[in-house]
This record gives sequence, structure tokens and C-alpha cells, in this order.
Amino acid sequence: MLSREVTMKTSFVRDGLPLIVDVKRHSLEDGPGIRSVVFFKGCPLRCVFCHNPEAQEKVQEIAFTEKECIFCGECVEVCPLKAINLESLEIIDRERCNSCGMCVDACPGKGLRRVGTYYEVEELAELLLRDRAFYKHSHGGITLSGGECTLYPEYVEALLKFLKPLGIHVVVETCGFFSYKTFSRKILPYVDLVYYDLKFADPAVHKKYTGRSNRRILENFQSLIREERVKVIPRIPLVPEITATKENLTAIASFLKTEGIKDAVLLPYNPMGLGKYGVIGNPRPPLPEHFMSQEEEKALEKMFNLILRQTK
Ligand code: SF4
Ligand code: SF4
Repeated sequence: MLSREVTMKTSFVRDGLPLIVDVKRHSLEDGPGIRSVVFFKGCPLRCVFCHNPEAQEKVQEIAFTEKECIFCGECVEVCPLKAINLESLEIIDRERCNSCGMCVDACPGKGLRRVGTYYEVEELAELLLRDRAFYKHSHGGITLSGGECTLYPEYVEALLKFLKPLGIHVVVETCGFFSYKTFSRKILPYVDLVYYDLKFADPAVHKKYTGRSNRRILENFQSLIREERVKVIPRIPLVPEITATKENLTAIASFLKTEGIKDAVLLPYNPMGLGKYGVIGNPRPPLPEHFMSQEEEKALEKMFNLILRQTK
């Protein structure tokens, strides 16, 4: 029988600090110029089409990558909870595993790794400032992504209070599910640009595919676009037969048009995240394995922009 003390999943959480899944340097895709992107771990939504499932849970997880494993058996030997079986389909028994990480430390290769690292605010700021010269010359900066950075308002506030006086351009990518009061007080004053994800117009459909209604997301969007200082760019992820339907895109475009928005970005469907589900022991969602064709994307974009830019 496993004791509660050893099986508690939160026993390796460091008080007050969020986990960071990754810090991607020299990105050209997450805002203007050259940027460093911080991927926070933890998200209030559970989108069935999530392209970054490693960033959903707030707690540290152990990832197993079969193609990196040499099947030496060291991890099996050291696991105190007997949670690893190299013969089984799952490899790690996620019910037993408490993410202690002893197997990761024992692994001689890259078969196992911890998902999520703690950074003190100063530590993360120092890492981000290493590329300050790139930001300056490319009109780039930093982008806070995830997961959902707004889950950690105190930490983000402290980080941005550090970086903003140094003239760093700040982008926030958000799913929009946050307390507007807290966001506007702690994060917004330091932000230049918000990429705001809108997935569905219909609240019931939103709940079906993300686990939450979009009422708060739409209300927050309406509040945010009325802020004069910050630029807001809505983004709609295209997922075949889920978000990328004529009905949904028409409804989102109509909503944006009513709000006076003239520009939005349709994010092309990217199946690359599907492989990440298995490594943390989650079932792979039944989504297409291939990219959408350029013709399909262009047709959806044309239809969407036509509604958005109609004058009447
Ligand atoms: S992290 Fe590794 S060693 Fe620790 S309980 Fe999980 S499988 Fe076992
Ligand atoms: S210790 Fe690492 S390389 Fe060895 S069996 Fe376990 S995961 Fe594979």
C-alpha cells in the first residue's frame, strides 16, 4: 500500500513559483522581431486540440521518449514506487508516479526528462536579458506564452517590473480566461501587445471542446479592446472540423465585426503537437495527422475577412 506522503503529486511543487516548460530563444514567430518566448506550465482550459499538452497541468510531469531510450533498466531499479515497467504499453504507471524524478536522474540518456523547471524571477529575467541586443536591433522582445501566464499574476508582475524599465517589448499570448481586475492591475501595465485566442463563438460548443464556457473570455476581450494603450490581436486557431467550420468562423467574424475589429489572425492547423501527448502518458486525440492544404486555409481566410471587413 502506497503512503499518502509518497504519492502526493504536489509534493515537488516549490511555493509561489510557477513551472516553466521551456524558454525558446531567437523565435521569429511569436510577435515582432527576434523574441524569447516563455512557456508557462498550467492552463485553465483543456482544449481537445491543444498543441502543447505538456503545458496543461501546473505540476511537474515525467516525460518518456521511446526513441531516446536504450532500455538499460536503470529507471526501473531506482523507482521507489515501482511505477516503471519497460514491458508495458504505458511504461510509467501515472497513478503511482509522484514525479519525484529519481528515474530521470538515473537515466544515462534522454529517455526520461522532467517537464517543467522552476526559475526565480531574477534568474528568468537574467536568461531573457541575454538576448537584449537581438531584441533591440530587430525591434523584438519577450513573449509570455504557455499554458497560460495569467495564472501567475504576482510572478509575471515581478518579472515585468524588472524588464519593462529596461525598455523590453512585451507580448502576452492568452486564452482569455482570467480575472480582468487582477490582469489589468498586475500584468497589463507592462504589456505592449496581446495575442488573444478566440476559439468558438458559441458558449456550449466552447465548453464541449475546451471544458469552459467562453462567457468570461468574450467579456474580457470586450474590456481589453477598450484599453487605449495596448494593442490587441485576436487569433483563431484552425482545427479541421472543430474550429475551422464555416459556421464557427462566420460567428467569430460577426462578433469581431460588431466590436469594431478589422484585423484578426487565423492560425494554421499544426499536427506537430500530437506526438507530445504520448510522452506524458495522455491519450492522443483523434485529430488529423496532416496540415491543412494552402487552398483550404486561403478559402477560410477569404471568407473570414470578407465578413470582418464588410462595411454593412
Ligand atoms: S518520477 Fe520516476 S522514480 Fe519517481 S515515482 Fe515517477 S517513475 Fe518512479
Ligand atoms: S533509464 Fe533511461 S535509457 Fe534506461 S531504460 Fe530507463 S528511460 Fe530508458
